Amino acid sequence: MTRRLVVIGGDAGGMSAAAQARRRTSSDELEVVAFERGEYTSYSACGIPYFVGGAVNDVDTLIARSPEAHRANGIDVRLETEVVAIDVDARTVTARGRASGAQTIEPFDDLMIATGSTPVRPDLPGIDARGVHGVQHLGDGIDLRADLAAVGDRPERAVVVGGGYVGLELAEALHDRGRAVTIVESSTQPMDTLDPDMGALVADAIRGLGIELITDTRVEGFDVDDGGRVRAVVAGDRTIECNLVVLGLGVTPSVELARDAGVRIGPSGGIATDARMATSVAGVWAAGDCVESHHRVSNRPVTIALGTHANKQGRVAGINITGGDARFGGVIGTAVTKICAHEIARTGLNEQEAVDAGFGIATATIESTTRAGYFPGATPVTVKVVADATDGRLLGAQIVGREGAAKRIDVLATAIWNEMTVEEIQQLDLGYAPPFSPVWDPVLVAARKAAAAPTR
Ligand SMILES: Cc1cc2nc3c(=O)[nH]c(=O)nc-3n(C[C@H](O)[C@H](O)[C@H](O)COP(=O)(O)OP(=O)(O)OC[C@H]3O[C@@H](n4cnc5c(N)ncnc54)[C@H](O)[C@@H]3O)c2cc1C
Repeated sequence: MTRRLVVIGGDAGGMSAAAQARRRTSSDELEVVAFERGEYTSYSACGIPYFVGGAVNDVDTLIARSPEAHRANGIDVRLETEVVAIDVDARTVTARGRASGAQTIEPFDDLMIATGSTPVRPDLPGIDARGVHGVQHLGDGIDLRADLAAVGDRPERAVVVGGGYVGLELAEALHDRGRAVTIVESSTQPMDTLDPDMGALVADAIRGLGIELITDTRVEGFDVDDGGRVRAVVAGDRTIECNLVVLGLGVTPSVELARDAGVRIGPSGGIATDARMATSVAGVWAAGDCVESHHRVSNRPVTIALGTHANKQGRVAGINITGGDARFGGVIGTAVTKICAHEIARTGLNEQEAVDAGFGIATATIESTTRAGYFPGATPVTVKVVADATDGRLLGAQIVGREGAAKRIDVLATAIWNEMTVEEIQQLDLGYAPPFSPVWDPVLVAARKAAAAPTR
Protein backbone atom coordinates (compact mmCIF):
# COMPACT_ATOMS: atom_id res chain seq x y z
CA MET A 1 0.00 0.00 0.00
CA THR A 2 1.26 3.50 -0.78
CA ARG A 3 2.20 5.42 2.34
CA ARG A 4 1.78 9.20 2.55
CA LEU A 5 4.30 11.76 3.83
CA VAL A 6 2.91 15.23 4.47
CA VAL A 7 5.41 18.07 4.80
CA ILE A 8 4.52 21.43 6.38
CA GLY A 9 6.88 24.15 5.13
CA GLY A 10 8.45 24.34 1.68
CA ASP A 11 11.92 25.63 2.42
CA ALA A 12 15.20 24.26 3.76
CA GLY A 13 14.05 21.84 6.45
CA GLY A 14 10.87 20.63 4.79
CA MET A 15 12.09 20.24 1.23
CA SER A 16 15.38 18.64 2.28
CA ALA A 17 13.31 15.98 3.99
CA ALA A 18 10.89 15.69 1.07
CA ALA A 19 13.68 15.46 -1.52
CA GLN A 20 15.60 12.89 0.51
CA ALA A 21 12.49 10.77 1.04
CA ARG A 22 11.63 11.02 -2.65
CA ARG A 23 15.15 10.01 -3.69
CA ARG A 24 15.02 6.91 -1.51
CA THR A 25 11.55 5.61 -2.42
CA SER A 26 9.38 5.22 -5.49
CA SER A 27 6.03 6.99 -5.88
CA ASP A 28 4.35 3.59 -5.56
CA GLU A 29 5.80 3.19 -2.08
CA LEU A 30 5.45 6.78 -0.85
CA GLU A 31 3.37 9.78 -1.87
CA VAL A 32 5.04 13.04 -0.79
CA VAL A 33 2.84 16.13 -0.40
CA ALA A 34 4.35 19.47 0.71
CA PHE A 35 2.26 22.41 1.90
CA GLU A 36 3.77 25.88 1.66
CA ARG A 37 1.78 28.95 2.58
CA GLY A 38 3.99 31.24 0.48
CA GLU A 39 4.72 31.36 -3.23
CA TYR A 40 8.22 29.85 -3.28
CA THR A 41 9.99 26.64 -2.39
CA SER A 42 13.62 25.96 -1.48
CA TYR A 43 14.69 29.59 -1.55
CA SER A 44 17.77 31.14 0.03
CA ALA A 45 16.72 33.62 2.71
CA CYS A 46 20.48 33.92 3.32
CA GLY A 47 20.80 35.55 -0.09
CA ILE A 48 18.15 38.23 0.54
CA PRO A 49 20.58 40.90 1.84
CA TYR A 50 22.70 40.51 -1.30
CA PHE A 51 19.63 40.75 -3.53
CA VAL A 52 18.54 43.91 -1.70
CA GLY A 53 22.06 45.35 -1.92
CA GLY A 54 22.41 44.54 -5.62
CA ALA A 55 25.28 42.01 -5.47
CA VAL A 56 22.70 39.51 -6.79
CA ASN A 57 20.16 40.84 -9.27
CA ASP A 58 18.24 37.83 -10.53
CA VAL A 59 15.89 36.72 -7.77
CA ASP A 60 15.42 33.36 -9.48
CA THR A 61 19.02 32.48 -8.67
CA LEU A 62 18.04 32.49 -4.98
CA ILE A 63 15.63 29.63 -5.63
CA ALA A 64 17.53 26.36 -5.36
CA ARG A 65 14.54 24.31 -6.53
CA SER A 66 11.29 25.72 -7.83
CA PRO A 67 7.88 24.15 -7.17
CA GLU A 68 7.89 22.90 -10.78
CA ALA A 69 11.26 21.21 -10.29
CA HIS A 70 10.01 19.53 -7.11
CA ARG A 71 6.86 18.40 -8.91
CA ALA A 72 8.95 16.99 -11.75
CA ASN A 73 10.76 14.98 -9.06
CA GLY A 74 7.49 13.53 -7.85
CA ILE A 75 6.74 15.82 -4.91
CA ASP A 76 3.21 17.19 -4.87
CA VAL A 77 3.83 20.82 -3.86
CA ARG A 78 0.76 22.82 -2.81
CA LEU A 79 1.65 26.51 -2.77
CA GLU A 80 -0.23 29.27 -0.96
CA THR A 81 -1.79 26.59 1.20
CA GLU A 82 -1.47 26.88 4.95
CA VAL A 83 -1.72 23.98 7.35
CA VAL A 84 -3.94 25.28 10.15
CA ALA A 85 -4.26 22.19 12.37
CA ILE A 86 -2.71 18.80 13.01
CA ASP A 87 -4.67 15.88 14.46
CA VAL A 88 -2.14 13.29 15.57
CA ASP A 89 -4.83 10.77 16.60
CA ALA A 90 -6.74 10.91 13.31
CA ARG A 91 -3.38 11.32 11.50
CA THR A 92 -4.60 14.23 9.42
CA VAL A 93 -3.77 17.88 8.84
CA THR A 94 -6.22 20.60 7.90
CA ALA A 95 -4.97 22.66 4.96
CA ARG A 96 -6.48 25.98 3.90
CA GLY A 97 -6.04 27.67 0.51
CA ARG A 98 -4.94 31.21 1.28
CA ALA A 99 -6.88 32.81 -1.56
CA SER A 100 -10.01 30.66 -1.55
CA GLY A 101 -10.16 29.92 2.17
CA ALA A 102 -11.24 26.39 1.19
CA GLN A 103 -10.19 23.73 3.69
CA THR A 104 -9.27 20.13 3.03
CA ILE A 105 -8.47 17.32 5.44
CA GLU A 106 -5.26 15.60 4.39
CA PRO A 107 -4.28 12.20 5.79
CA PHE A 108 -0.69 11.27 6.58
CA ASP A 109 1.28 8.24 7.65
CA ASP A 110 4.34 10.36 8.43
CA LEU A 111 4.30 14.10 9.09
CA MET A 112 7.26 16.42 8.68
CA ILE A 113 6.96 19.74 10.56
CA ALA A 114 9.30 22.39 9.13
CA THR A 115 7.45 25.59 9.90
CA GLY A 116 10.59 27.67 10.45
CA SER A 117 10.64 30.68 12.73
CA THR A 118 8.70 33.89 13.29
CA PRO A 119 10.52 37.23 13.24
CA VAL A 120 10.20 39.30 16.40
CA ARG A 121 7.89 42.22 15.60
CA PRO A 122 7.12 44.18 18.76
CA ASP A 123 3.77 45.86 19.07
CA LEU A 124 5.13 49.42 18.78
CA PRO A 125 3.22 52.49 17.59
CA GLY A 126 3.57 52.87 13.82
CA ILE A 127 5.22 49.51 13.18
CA ASP A 128 2.71 48.67 10.46
CA ALA A 129 3.47 51.85 8.51
CA ARG A 130 4.54 51.52 4.90
CA GLY A 131 8.30 51.45 4.66
CA VAL A 132 8.82 49.33 7.80
CA HIS A 133 10.10 45.98 6.56
CA GLY A 134 10.62 42.64 8.22
CA VAL A 135 12.93 40.33 6.28
CA GLN A 136 12.22 36.62 6.55
CA HIS A 137 10.96 35.14 3.32
CA LEU A 138 11.87 35.77 -0.30
CA GLY A 139 8.79 37.92 -0.85
CA ASP A 140 10.00 40.25 1.91
CA GLY A 141 13.29 40.75 0.06
CA ILE A 142 11.47 41.44 -3.20
CA ASP A 143 9.19 43.98 -1.46
CA LEU A 144 12.12 45.69 0.24
CA ARG A 145 14.09 46.01 -2.98
CA ALA A 146 11.03 47.36 -4.80
CA ASP A 147 10.41 49.87 -2.02
CA LEU A 148 14.04 51.00 -2.16
CA ALA A 149 13.68 51.57 -5.88
CA ALA A 150 10.36 53.39 -5.38
CA VAL A 151 11.81 55.87 -2.89
CA GLY A 152 15.01 56.10 -4.92
CA ASP A 153 14.48 59.72 -5.84
CA ARG A 154 14.12 60.56 -2.14
CA PRO A 155 17.17 58.82 -0.75
CA GLU A 156 16.71 59.73 2.87
CA ARG A 157 18.19 57.88 5.79
CA ALA A 158 17.36 54.22 6.38
CA VAL A 159 17.22 52.76 9.89
CA VAL A 160 18.01 49.17 10.78
CA VAL A 161 16.54 48.06 14.09
CA GLY A 162 18.73 45.33 15.59
CA GLY A 163 22.46 44.79 15.30
CA GLY A 164 22.57 41.00 14.89
CA TYR A 165 23.82 39.41 11.71
CA VAL A 166 20.62 40.00 9.71
CA GLY A 167 20.68 43.67 10.78
CA LEU A 168 24.32 44.04 9.79
CA GLU A 169 23.84 42.37 6.42
CA LEU A 170 20.85 44.60 5.65
CA ALA A 171 22.80 47.67 6.82
CA GLU A 172 25.49 46.73 4.30
CA ALA A 173 22.84 46.35 1.59
CA LEU A 174 21.37 49.79 2.29
CA HIS A 175 24.84 51.35 2.54
CA ASP A 176 25.73 49.78 -0.83
CA ARG A 177 22.56 51.36 -2.23
CA GLY A 178 23.88 54.76 -1.23
CA ARG A 179 21.69 55.28 1.82
CA ALA A 180 22.78 57.00 4.98
CA VAL A 181 22.20 54.21 7.52
CA THR A 182 21.59 54.16 11.27
CA ILE A 183 21.61 50.92 13.27
CA VAL A 184 19.72 51.00 16.58
CA GLU A 185 20.67 48.20 18.97
CA SER A 186 19.22 47.68 22.46
CA SER A 187 22.26 45.95 23.96
CA THR A 188 25.67 47.46 24.57
CA GLN A 189 27.16 46.19 21.32
CA PRO A 190 26.23 44.86 17.90
CA MET A 191 26.56 41.07 17.40
CA ASP A 192 25.85 40.34 21.04
CA THR A 193 26.70 36.66 20.60
CA LEU A 194 30.32 37.88 20.66
CA ASP A 195 32.20 38.83 23.83
CA PRO A 196 32.17 42.59 24.51
CA ASP A 197 35.83 43.06 23.47
CA MET A 198 35.15 41.45 20.08
CA GLY A 199 31.80 43.23 19.73
CA ALA A 200 33.66 46.51 20.26
CA LEU A 201 35.78 45.75 17.19
CA VAL A 202 32.60 45.25 15.18
CA ALA A 203 31.21 48.54 16.51
CA ASP A 204 34.41 50.34 15.44
CA ALA A 205 34.20 48.74 12.01
CA ILE A 206 30.57 49.81 11.55
CA ARG A 207 31.28 53.39 12.57
CA GLY A 208 34.37 53.40 10.37
CA LEU A 209 32.09 52.75 7.40
CA GLY A 210 30.16 55.94 8.16
CA ILE A 211 27.17 53.95 9.42
CA GLU A 212 25.69 55.46 12.57
CA LEU A 213 25.48 52.93 15.41
CA ILE A 214 23.30 53.68 18.42
CA THR A 215 23.64 51.12 21.23
CA ASP A 216 21.91 50.65 24.60
CA THR A 217 18.79 52.13 23.05
CA ARG A 218 15.37 50.65 22.46
CA VAL A 219 13.11 51.74 19.62
CA GLU A 220 9.86 53.04 21.12
CA GLY A 221 7.89 53.64 17.97
CA PHE A 222 7.68 55.01 14.44
CA ASP A 223 6.38 58.39 13.32
CA VAL A 224 4.12 58.09 10.31
CA ASP A 225 3.33 60.75 7.69
CA ASP A 226 -0.15 61.60 6.38
CA GLY A 227 0.27 59.09 3.56
CA GLY A 228 0.84 56.26 6.03
CA ARG A 229 4.56 55.99 5.42
CA VAL A 230 7.22 55.90 8.11
CA ARG A 231 8.99 59.24 8.53
CA ALA A 232 11.04 58.72 11.69
CA VAL A 233 12.15 56.18 14.26
CA VAL A 234 11.75 57.20 17.90
CA ALA A 235 14.54 55.68 19.98
CA GLY A 236 15.55 56.93 23.44
CA ASP A 237 15.99 60.69 23.20
CA ARG A 238 16.40 60.55 19.42
CA THR A 239 13.90 61.00 16.62
CA ILE A 240 15.73 59.69 13.57
CA GLU A 241 14.19 60.94 10.34
CA CYS A 242 14.07 58.28 7.66
CA ASN A 243 11.86 56.87 4.93
CA LEU A 244 12.78 53.24 5.27
CA VAL A 245 13.17 50.88 8.22
CA VAL A 246 14.36 47.27 8.34
CA LEU A 247 13.66 45.12 11.38
CA GLY A 248 16.28 42.58 12.38
CA LEU A 249 15.21 41.69 15.90
CA GLY A 250 15.71 37.96 15.80
CA VAL A 251 13.28 35.11 15.52
CA THR A 252 11.40 32.61 17.67
CA PRO A 253 10.65 29.03 16.61
CA SER A 254 7.22 28.62 14.97
CA VAL A 255 5.82 25.86 17.17
CA GLU A 256 2.14 26.75 17.65
CA LEU A 257 0.80 24.06 15.30
CA ALA A 258 2.99 21.41 16.92
CA ARG A 259 2.18 22.55 20.46
CA ASP A 260 -1.57 22.59 19.76
CA ALA A 261 -1.28 19.03 18.43
CA GLY A 262 0.37 17.82 21.64
CA VAL A 263 3.90 17.51 20.22
CA ARG A 264 6.43 18.17 23.01
CA ILE A 265 8.13 21.56 23.02
CA GLY A 266 11.56 21.58 24.64
CA PRO A 267 12.89 23.93 27.36
CA SER A 268 14.54 26.28 24.87
CA GLY A 269 11.23 26.83 23.05
CA GLY A 270 11.75 24.68 19.97
CA ILE A 271 10.10 21.37 19.10
CA ALA A 272 11.93 18.62 21.01
CA THR A 273 13.35 15.85 18.81
CA ASP A 274 15.83 13.04 19.20
CA ALA A 275 18.95 12.84 17.02
CA ARG A 276 16.87 11.09 14.33
CA MET A 277 14.61 14.20 14.23
CA ALA A 278 11.67 12.23 15.61
CA THR A 279 9.34 14.22 17.86
CA SER A 280 7.49 12.95 20.93
CA VAL A 281 4.68 11.65 18.65
CA ALA A 282 5.39 8.49 16.63
CA GLY A 283 5.62 9.19 12.90
CA VAL A 284 5.85 12.97 13.41
CA TRP A 285 9.22 14.48 12.56
CA ALA A 286 10.57 18.02 12.67
CA ALA A 287 13.57 19.99 11.37
CA GLY A 288 14.93 23.50 10.94
CA ASP A 289 14.31 26.75 12.78
CA CYS A 290 11.26 25.29 14.57
CA VAL A 291 13.25 22.66 16.51
CA GLU A 292 15.68 22.80 19.37
CA SER A 293 19.10 21.22 18.98
CA HIS A 294 21.64 19.68 21.30
CA HIS A 295 24.62 22.00 21.87
CA ARG A 296 27.66 19.73 21.93
CA VAL A 297 29.77 22.02 24.15
CA SER A 298 27.28 23.28 26.74
CA ASN A 299 25.34 20.00 26.61
CA ARG A 300 22.14 22.05 26.66
CA PRO A 301 19.19 22.34 24.30
CA VAL A 302 19.33 25.50 22.17
CA THR A 303 17.41 27.08 19.33
CA ILE A 304 19.77 28.46 16.71
CA ALA A 305 18.06 29.50 13.50
CA LEU A 306 20.50 28.73 10.70
CA GLY A 307 20.09 27.29 7.24
CA THR A 308 23.04 24.93 7.79
CA HIS A 309 21.15 23.11 10.54
CA ALA A 310 17.81 23.12 8.70
CA ASN A 311 19.29 21.43 5.63
CA LYS A 312 21.14 18.77 7.62
CA GLN A 313 18.22 18.05 9.93
CA GLY A 314 15.76 17.80 7.01
CA ARG A 315 18.03 15.35 5.26
CA VAL A 316 18.32 13.22 8.39
CA ALA A 317 14.54 13.19 8.82
CA GLY A 318 13.99 12.25 5.17
CA ILE A 319 16.36 9.28 5.50
CA ASN A 320 14.72 8.06 8.69
CA ILE A 321 11.18 8.51 7.38
CA THR A 322 12.08 6.12 4.57
CA GLY A 323 13.51 3.39 6.76
CA GLY A 324 17.11 4.56 7.09
CA ASP A 325 19.03 5.38 10.24
CA ALA A 326 20.69 8.80 10.17
CA ARG A 327 21.55 11.06 13.09
CA PHE A 328 21.93 14.82 13.45
CA GLY A 329 25.10 15.37 15.43
CA GLY A 330 24.08 18.58 17.21
CA VAL A 331 25.31 22.15 16.90
CA ILE A 332 28.16 24.23 18.24
CA GLY A 333 26.94 27.70 17.25
CA THR A 334 29.18 28.33 14.27
CA ALA A 335 28.20 31.42 12.28
CA VAL A 336 29.87 33.81 9.87
CA THR A 337 28.74 37.14 8.52
CA LYS A 338 30.12 40.36 7.15
CA ILE A 339 29.42 44.05 6.90
CA CYS A 340 31.08 45.50 3.82
CA ALA A 341 34.76 44.53 4.02
CA HIS A 342 34.57 43.44 7.67
CA GLU A 343 34.15 39.76 8.44
CA ILE A 344 32.85 38.35 11.71
CA ALA A 345 32.80 34.73 12.87
CA ARG A 346 32.08 32.76 15.99
CA THR A 347 31.85 29.15 17.09
CA GLY A 348 31.26 27.28 20.34
CA LEU A 349 30.72 29.24 23.53
CA ASN A 350 31.70 32.81 24.27
CA GLU A 351 33.16 33.67 27.68
CA GLN A 352 29.84 34.23 29.41
CA GLU A 353 28.22 31.19 27.84
CA ALA A 354 31.18 29.04 28.95
CA VAL A 355 30.98 30.34 32.52
CA ASP A 356 27.18 29.85 32.54
CA ALA A 357 27.71 26.26 31.37
CA GLY A 358 29.93 25.68 34.40
CA PHE A 359 33.40 25.80 32.84
CA GLY A 360 36.47 27.42 34.38
CA ILE A 361 38.05 29.19 31.42
CA ALA A 362 41.32 30.41 29.98
CA THR A 363 41.11 32.94 27.16
CA ALA A 364 43.54 34.43 24.69
CA THR A 365 43.15 37.16 22.09
CA ILE A 366 45.74 37.77 19.39
CA GLU A 367 46.17 40.21 16.53
CA SER A 368 47.72 39.02 13.33
CA THR A 369 47.24 39.43 9.59
CA THR A 370 45.26 37.52 6.98
CA ARG A 371 48.34 37.15 4.74
CA ALA A 372 52.08 37.35 5.38
CA GLY A 373 52.62 40.85 6.77
CA TYR A 374 54.70 41.92 3.74
CA PHE A 375 52.27 40.53 1.18
CA PRO A 376 49.99 43.00 -0.67
CA GLY A 377 46.46 42.91 0.71
CA ALA A 378 47.44 41.70 4.18
CA THR A 379 44.87 43.07 6.64
CA PRO A 380 44.55 42.85 10.43
CA VAL A 381 42.63 39.98 12.01
CA THR A 382 41.79 39.44 15.69
CA VAL A 383 41.25 35.91 16.96
CA LYS A 384 39.93 35.11 20.43
CA VAL A 385 39.76 31.63 21.88
CA VAL A 386 38.08 30.33 25.03
CA ALA A 387 39.45 27.09 26.48
CA ASP A 388 38.53 24.82 29.39
CA ALA A 389 40.90 25.75 32.19
CA THR A 390 41.13 22.20 33.46
CA ASP A 391 42.21 20.34 30.35
CA GLY A 392 42.76 22.96 27.65
CA ARG A 393 39.84 21.76 25.51
CA LEU A 394 38.74 24.45 23.08
CA LEU A 395 35.26 25.71 24.02
CA GLY A 396 34.78 28.63 21.68
CA ALA A 397 36.36 31.10 19.29
CA GLN A 398 35.59 34.43 17.66
CA ILE A 399 37.24 36.19 14.73
CA VAL A 400 36.92 39.76 13.47
CA GLY A 401 38.90 40.90 10.46
CA ARG A 402 38.76 41.53 6.76
CA GLU A 403 38.80 39.35 3.67
CA GLY A 404 40.01 35.85 4.48
CA ALA A 405 39.32 36.18 8.21
CA ALA A 406 35.90 34.66 8.82
CA LYS A 407 36.17 31.22 7.28
CA ARG A 408 39.24 30.52 9.45
CA ILE A 409 36.60 29.80 12.08
CA ASP A 410 36.00 26.45 10.37
CA VAL A 411 39.37 25.15 11.58
CA LEU A 412 38.40 26.03 15.14
CA ALA A 413 34.86 24.69 14.71
CA THR A 414 36.32 21.38 13.53
CA ALA A 415 38.62 21.37 16.54
CA ILE A 416 35.72 22.00 18.93
CA TRP A 417 33.62 19.31 17.26
CA ASN A 418 36.44 16.83 17.82
CA GLU A 419 37.12 18.04 21.38
CA MET A 420 40.69 19.07 20.65
CA THR A 421 42.77 20.95 23.18
CA VAL A 422 44.55 24.22 22.45
CA GLU A 423 47.86 22.31 22.81
CA GLU A 424 46.76 19.98 20.01
CA ILE A 425 45.44 22.81 17.83
CA GLN A 426 48.73 24.70 17.89
CA GLN A 427 50.35 21.60 16.31
CA LEU A 428 47.91 21.39 13.39
CA ASP A 429 49.49 21.10 9.98
CA LEU A 430 47.67 23.98 8.28
CA GLY A 431 48.54 25.28 4.84
CA TYR A 432 50.84 28.26 4.49
CA ALA A 433 51.99 30.50 1.64
CA PRO A 434 52.37 34.29 1.88
CA PRO A 435 49.19 35.15 -0.10
CA PHE A 436 47.10 33.06 2.32
CA SER A 437 48.53 33.49 5.83
CA PRO A 438 51.57 34.30 7.93
CA VAL A 439 53.80 31.28 8.53
CA TRP A 440 51.99 30.82 11.86
CA ASP A 441 48.35 31.06 10.93
CA PRO A 442 46.38 33.37 13.29
CA VAL A 443 44.35 30.43 14.64
CA LEU A 444 47.56 28.60 15.58
CA VAL A 445 48.91 31.70 17.32
CA ALA A 446 45.67 32.10 19.28
CA ALA A 447 45.74 28.45 20.37
CA ARG A 448 49.40 28.74 21.40
CA LYS A 449 48.67 31.80 23.48
CA ALA A 450 45.64 30.15 25.11
CA ALA A 451 47.76 27.14 26.02
CA ALA A 452 49.95 29.47 28.06
CA ALA A 453 47.12 31.66 29.38
CA PRO A 454 46.33 31.98 33.09
CA THR A 455 43.04 30.36 34.05
CA ARG A 456 39.90 31.95 35.46
C1 LIG B 1 17.93 37.69 5.89
C2 LIG B 1 18.36 36.33 6.34
C3 LIG B 1 19.67 35.92 6.16
C4 LIG B 1 20.08 34.66 6.59
N1 LIG B 1 21.38 34.29 6.41
C5 LIG B 1 21.79 33.06 6.80
C6 LIG B 1 23.13 32.65 6.59
O1 LIG B 1 23.95 33.40 6.03
N2 LIG B 1 23.49 31.42 7.01
C7 LIG B 1 22.60 30.55 7.61
O2 LIG B 1 22.98 29.41 7.95
N3 LIG B 1 21.32 30.93 7.81
C8 LIG B 1 20.90 32.15 7.43
N4 LIG B 1 19.59 32.53 7.62
C9 LIG B 1 18.68 31.61 8.32
C10 LIG B 1 18.08 30.59 7.37
O3 LIG B 1 17.50 31.23 6.27
C11 LIG B 1 17.05 29.77 8.12
O4 LIG B 1 17.67 29.19 9.23
C12 LIG B 1 16.45 28.69 7.25
O5 LIG B 1 15.76 29.24 6.16
C13 LIG B 1 15.52 27.83 8.08
O6 LIG B 1 14.87 26.90 7.26
P1 LIG B 1 13.47 26.31 7.70
O7 LIG B 1 13.05 25.41 6.58
O8 LIG B 1 13.56 25.76 9.05
O9 LIG B 1 12.52 27.56 7.83
P2 LIG B 1 12.06 28.63 6.74
O10 LIG B 1 13.13 28.86 5.74
O11 LIG B 1 11.51 29.78 7.48
O12 LIG B 1 10.88 27.87 6.01
C14 LIG B 1 9.68 27.56 6.66
C15 LIG B 1 8.60 27.58 5.61
O13 LIG B 1 7.41 27.08 6.19
C16 LIG B 1 6.32 27.83 5.69
N5 LIG B 1 5.26 27.65 6.69
C17 LIG B 1 5.28 27.98 8.00
N6 LIG B 1 4.15 27.61 8.60
C18 LIG B 1 3.39 27.03 7.65
C19 LIG B 1 2.09 26.43 7.67
N7 LIG B 1 1.37 26.38 8.79
N8 LIG B 1 1.61 25.93 6.51
C20 LIG B 1 2.35 25.99 5.36
N9 LIG B 1 3.57 26.54 5.29
C21 LIG B 1 4.08 27.04 6.43
C22 LIG B 1 6.84 29.24 5.60
O14 LIG B 1 6.11 30.01 4.66
C23 LIG B 1 8.29 28.99 5.13
O15 LIG B 1 8.43 29.05 3.72
C24 LIG B 1 19.15 33.78 7.20
C25 LIG B 1 17.82 34.19 7.38
C26 LIG B 1 17.43 35.44 6.96
C27 LIG B 1 16.00 35.87 7.16
